[in-house]
Amino acid sequence: MPEVPALSVPELLDLDRRHVWHPYGPMPGRTEPLVVESASGVRLRLADGSGELVDGMSSWWAAIHGYRHPVLDEAVREQLSRMSHVMFGGLTHEPAVRLAKLLVDMSPDGLEHVFLADSGSVSVEVAVKMCLQYWRSLGRPEKRRLLTWRGGYHGDTWQPMSVCDPEGGMHELWSGVLPRQVFADAPPAAYEESYAAHLHDLIERHAGELAAVIVEPVVQGAGGMRFHSPAYLRTLREACDAHGVLLVFDEIATGFGRTGELFAAGHASVTPDVMCVGKALTGGYLTMAATLCTARVADGISRGEVPVLAHGPTFMGNPLAAAVACASVELLLGQDWRTEVKRIEAGLRDGLAPAAGLDGVRDVRVLGAIGVVQLDHEVDMTAATRAAVHEGVWLRPFRDLVYTMPPYVTGDADVARIARAVCAAAREG
Ligand code: PLP
Repeated sequence: MPEVPALSVPELLDLDRRHVWHPYGPMPGRTEPLVVESASGVRLRLADGSGELVDGMSSWWAAIHGYRHPVLDEAVREQLSRMSHVMFGGLTHEPAVRLAKLLVDMSPDGLEHVFLADSGSVSVEVAVKMCLQYWRSLGRPEKRRLLTWRGGYHGDTWQPMSVCDPEGGMHELWSGVLPRQVFADAPPAAYEESYAAHLHDLIERHAGELAAVIVEPVVQGAGGMRFHSPAYLRTLREACDAHGVLLVFDEIATGFGRTGELFAAGHASVTPDVMCVGKALTGGYLTMAATLCTARVADGISRGEVPVLAHGPTFMGNPLAAAVACASVELLLGQDWRTEVKRIEAGLRDGLAPAAGLDGVRDVRVLGAIGVVQLDHEVDMTAATRAAVHEGVWLRPFRDLVYTMPPYVTGDADVARIARAVCAAAREG
């Protein structure tokens, strides 16, 4: 094979700016991304020769075991030696079946069936389709709206966008065009009887047109990094049961131990009817997500005039992704992950405490391996990122937030360093 000459960093950045669309970015690009040459453990090596950054983002909540983990590398290599992909219609394979069984065994009791999707957003699309189809199959096609909390984020495809924060959120542009959903105020941090009653009333009032309630349990992530009392999950379960509405938990960000429980639903011992997982599912190696549902949901759908779930992406159940997902889940469950997450939580609490005394800081909050500093103003992303990089840490502040969710393998010294960088970014941003 002819050797392809490597691009210099300036050449690469020029081509990137002209041709490559980045998340939530303009075209051509206006800011200069850092070029990552390789990643190992919790460190990203930069191509410009300036050294390494400790990753405070786990590549958007995904790389819980860090990069180039030998067990995960080996799982991909081993699977590659058998097959990288095969269609999932009419065929099946061991990695997908093993993964489905692992997910069912580790998830809240009652979730029995698994649809393997190719991204978090698609898993939410599938969850919504399941809920609408369930009611249609039972002769209630008018139950097709969703109720959710303001301040949420569920992805960038059509149905997920419709349940993202409608005001000031990432998809506000489309608010007049998206399906019209029912919004409750974002839940308060502490349990308030009056808010729980309001939630219950809203579900009761709209039950005739609601297919499901969909929320991010305990932590609302990309919509604002807000934490709330797990008791509200019980309120939702009771109200949904009482008024005939399905309950969907989007655990794409919170799943696999991030909040200190395997799934955030575990803080309240609540089982949803449908649950979405993604991000850390493959340890951040490959793109795969999943939608789990109860037998009730699957049985309902199978009783309909069209008894199948009409969804089947080309790369559904990709064997490489499924194999590395199995390895990542087994790696997590085979270690004392709870202690590791608690250790990071303690390190972030200590390290972020000084931020509370900074000018312009509204709130500092920590839960599991998530640390958040909220400012009283929009963060200057360039200045905040530069301050973090100066501390040798990669962070991606947004809106009024500087936050971190490091890999669980981050050592104490690196947790302290990340916390220092969050403080510096909050000060400079
Ligand atoms: N749901 C939640 C709670 C998320 O945090 C995200 C991504 O940030 C998504 C859904 C969408 O997942 P993906 O980016 O894999 O499509």
